[in-house]
Amino acid sequence: MHRIMARIIAQKKILLLVLFVLAVGFVAQRPERSKAAGSADSVSGPKVIVLNYHKVDNQNHSLSVLPPDFEQQMAFLKENGYHTVTPHEMYMAFTDGAPLPTNPVLITFDDGYADNYTYAYPILKKYGMKAAIFVITSLMGKPGYLTWGQAAEMEASGVVSIESHTVTHGSLTDLTDEQIRYELTEAKHDIEQRLGKEVEFLAYPTGAYNLHIASLVQEAGYKGAFTVRYGNMDRAANFYAIERVPIFHTSDTFASFLERLKFVPLFERIGWAKN
Ligand SMILES: [Zn+2]
Repeated sequence: MHRIMARIIAQKKILLLVLFVLAVGFVAQRPERSKAAGSADSVSGPKVIVLNYHKVDNQNHSLSVLPPDFEQQMAFLKENGYHTVTPHEMYMAFTDGAPLPTNPVLITFDDGYADNYTYAYPILKKYGMKAAIFVITSLMGKPGYLTWGQAAEMEASGVVSIESHTVTHGSLTDLTDEQIRYELTEAKHDIEQRLGKEVEFLAYPTGAYNLHIASLVQEAGYKGAFTVRYGNMDRAANFYAIERVPIFHTSDTFASFLERLKFVPLFERIGWAKN
């Protein structure tokens, strides 16, 4: 089993390398399309890379990025001229023409785990990074999840925007319209009441959505919603299907991070695969 997996992974790496070499060659011949993510493009304007994390802690699990790995990633972003934006700043840039910093990145966390406060928040502050945390309101204060006090502290600091990941995290495609409306409006209202802020954004639980659900999200007063589909964000994109780049704990987390940050947007720009 492990040998088969190792072979598949090795083959995948070779394929990625070949694709990358091809991509570099292809882009080199087309200078008008060779700009990196974050720079201006005549058709769709600047791009924002949206990163998606879940946990930052010491568990050996693909959804748990180790604190030193998370710190290395934030240090890399800072040293290489990336600048974080909030979901609101991204929205204003794409709808109102508000300026974006160079190499804009939006850092998101799903589910509202307590480790986001314990490990990620101090690192974000240390490197001057902002992030959004999508919380499941019925789980706030439960073991392993953020408390409302922690959420309020992070929100007040200006470092973290607390946004909605619904009330129960039920997959919206499995629910009735009435249930969907409850999940959307109750979570939004609860966060707004407790934190005294406007909740503008949603992350779809498990990423599941369709056009009808997107219309209910808009109706509930959200300005945009994030999927788990792989991609970048620009003004031509659908605000109720904002794509993200997932960051996982792997056998070489930093290499995977760099690959995702740098190479995948390049593949995407020349029209190659999303996964
Ligand atoms: Zn989730």
